[in-house]
Amino acid sequence: MSTQRNNAIKESSKRKARSFVEQIRRSELFGSQVFNEEKMVQYLTRDAYESVKNAIFTGSKIDRKMADQIAEAMKAWALSMGATHYTHWFQPLTGATAEKHDAFFDLLPDGRALEKFGGSQLVQQEPDASSFPSGGIRNTFEARGYTAWDPSSPAFIYGATLCIPTIFVSYTGEALDNKAPLLRALHAVDQAATGVARYFDKSVNKVMATLGWEQEYFLIDKALAGSRPDLVLTGRTLVGQAAAKGQQLDDHYFGVIPLRAINFMKDLEVECTRLGIPVKTRHNEVAPNQFELAPVFEEANLAVDHNLLLMDIMEKVADRHDLKVLFHEKPFAGINGSGKHNNWSLATDTGVNLLSPGSTPMKNLQFLTFFVNTIKAVDTYEELLRASIASATNDHRLGANEAPPAIFSIFIGEQLSAVLDELEGVSQGKLSPEEKTELKLNVVGKIPEILLDNTDRNRTSPFAFTGNKFEMRGVGAKMNCAKPMTVLNTIVARQLIEFKKEVDKLIEKKKLKKDEAIFNVLREYIKASKRIRFDGDGYSESWQKEAAKRKLSNNKTTPEALEIVVSKGSIDLFNEMQVMSEVEVKARHEVDLETYILQTQIEGRVFNELVNTQIIPAAIAYQNKVISNIRGIKEIYGSGYQQHAEAQLSILEEISGHLAATRKKSEAMTEARKKANSEKDIRKKAKAYCHEVRPYFEDIRYHCDKLEQLVDDRDWPLAKYRELLFIR
Ligand code: ADP
Ligand code: MG
Repeated sequence: MSTQRNNAIKESSKRKARSFVEQIRRSELFGSQVFNEEKMVQYLTRDAYESVKNAIFTGSKIDRKMADQIAEAMKAWALSMGATHYTHWFQPLTGATAEKHDAFFDLLPDGRALEKFGGSQLVQQEPDASSFPSGGIRNTFEARGYTAWDPSSPAFIYGATLCIPTIFVSYTGEALDNKAPLLRALHAVDQAATGVARYFDKSVNKVMATLGWEQEYFLIDKALAGSRPDLVLTGRTLVGQAAAKGQQLDDHYFGVIPLRAINFMKDLEVECTRLGIPVKTRHNEVAPNQFELAPVFEEANLAVDHNLLLMDIMEKVADRHDLKVLFHEKPFAGINGSGKHNNWSLATDTGVNLLSPGSTPMKNLQFLTFFVNTIKAVDTYEELLRASIASATNDHRLGANEAPPAIFSIFIGEQLSAVLDELEGVSQGKLSPEEKTELKLNVVGKIPEILLDNTDRNRTSPFAFTGNKFEMRGVGAKMNCAKPMTVLNTIVARQLIEFKKEVDKLIEKKKLKKDEAIFNVLREYIKASKRIRFDGDGYSESWQKEAAKRKLSNNKTTPEALEIVVSKGSIDLFNEMQVMSEVEVKARHEVDLETYILQTQIEGRVFNELVNTQIIPAAIAYQNKVISNIRGIKEIYGSGYQQHAEAQLSILEEISGHLAATRKKSEAMTEARKKANSEKDIRKKAKAYCHEVRPYFEDIRYHCDKLEQLVDDRDWPLAKYRELLFIR
């Protein structure tokens, strides 16, 4: 057996679980490493505290003098916690987070040393931005980029470093990151939703989007994962025959969590708790060695930061437990992939969840208003929402094994469908007192206060209403949630602005009462957005046909899905909502295509390497064994040897066939890559990689997996699925 696989198996089977005991109650530990409300009160002057609170609530600027005070306070706290460095923590378009540490340490002119950290270091930094993807922004505009403090996400100490969440923009102001557009989208939805919420409650001054993500992941023994070049370099297994046992027995889902995994989780959760990430739920997922972690939901910007931080912590803690976390959306063929459901809602500063039905007809009308507007927004921009979750890695998952299909639709359940059907029949214009009473008592009034049982059991709807929030399920496990959240909040903001205009017009021009006007507009929206509602099986052939008839988009691959992003409608939308300028939209499109190309290119290269240096040599080695066996038989039996070597000869033939095919296809794939690389237009290049290169991966894999089934287990160089997924 190859020494690498052999050693990895030995090492992994010897492992003992690393014990972990929780010593302090979580509630006491929570946020101990965060410069949160409690620390601000303790460390800041009243004025400084007010200015931070104001900046969070209204987005107002913090002036320089205040910034100096705040920096001084943060430094005092950070030093008291043993921090030695600080960093601006940001989210470049690579999808991960970035940081560049500076020591608090400084020298005075006379050579004395001291700890220094002032307002200017807090507010703005200039990392060397030249190596981050910018989609051409930096070439066309200004070479430098800078990071700027986001006071709405509190600073925290990670390791011995004070991390300051920041946005990352070019000197001409274009966003070079995922956070800046998200903050702008959240601002847009705040303004739009506040306007509408005030129809129902004049005391509302702010609406915030809430996000609760559910992170799925695989845990694999570190030595085994490290022994597979494809896992190391691409995050997924490019080849590998399915294990005899997969997830068919459903014996993993919600089962007893394996000891090594549970100890990892405890350790992880304590670390998260210290950093203010409100982790709550953990369980086994459907596939073997697959798990999920979910927090209590938070304001969306904070939730996004926490998810990114979590992924970082997970990798570090897993390493302590000799495990490797896989965030790839489809690390293993034939079993479930990993997603990150984004549970989303809107909440007012008065503490009301706008997507939660209430106890009075008026509260329910408010609920219906936000509910129907969200449906309308998703209906109008379904293709853009689909684009927001497109990536080379997620393409493997969407539409396979329980993941939602590439067609966007909304599940709302029987009860609410019935309510919307009734509302479709509301009279035009003024309503008679009888109709109003009927509506309030028997339609709106009938919405039960708690719809929490409103769950989509088959879990394949891409966008499901689950009682008091919508759940966007196509988001990939590896993704930065900022992307889909930017789009969702932007389209809902746009829709709510439209809604308010229409309602106000009916009130002013047609002299309708507020509730009459709202019923009238909602009726039209319900009619107009019917095509997006679908409660059935998203995989059925009948739905694929039906969806086509309804003209819903069905973009199965990333290059196709991304097209809509640079359409006029999309550019206008982001522009008008002041979320992204045309330049920013186009730059992102380019970065996304470039990432797609690079990821596919890397997979192609790793494939060649695996095939030529591991799989083919292993097959030949085994072939030689068979050949010498046949020679031996011939020596003994002479010309009649064939009848005694029937099995050997057929094995030989099968191996030769698959060897030849593997070699031929991988050479053809290399040619296709060369051709794709010569393509100058980035959209055409992405499509060439998608349609000319990628299809070879399946083909090559087929023959490699056949070889895996033929070759002597002791000769096979790569850790097998049964080892990766069942050694714990
Ligand atoms: P499941 O979907 O697994 O049955 P839940 O529906 O209870 O579990 O919760 C899933 C996630 O939804 C959790 O992270 C939870 O915090 C989040 N969530 C619950 N309410 C809201 C809300 N109003 N806004 C955003 N997320 C929410
Ligand atoms: Mg859920």
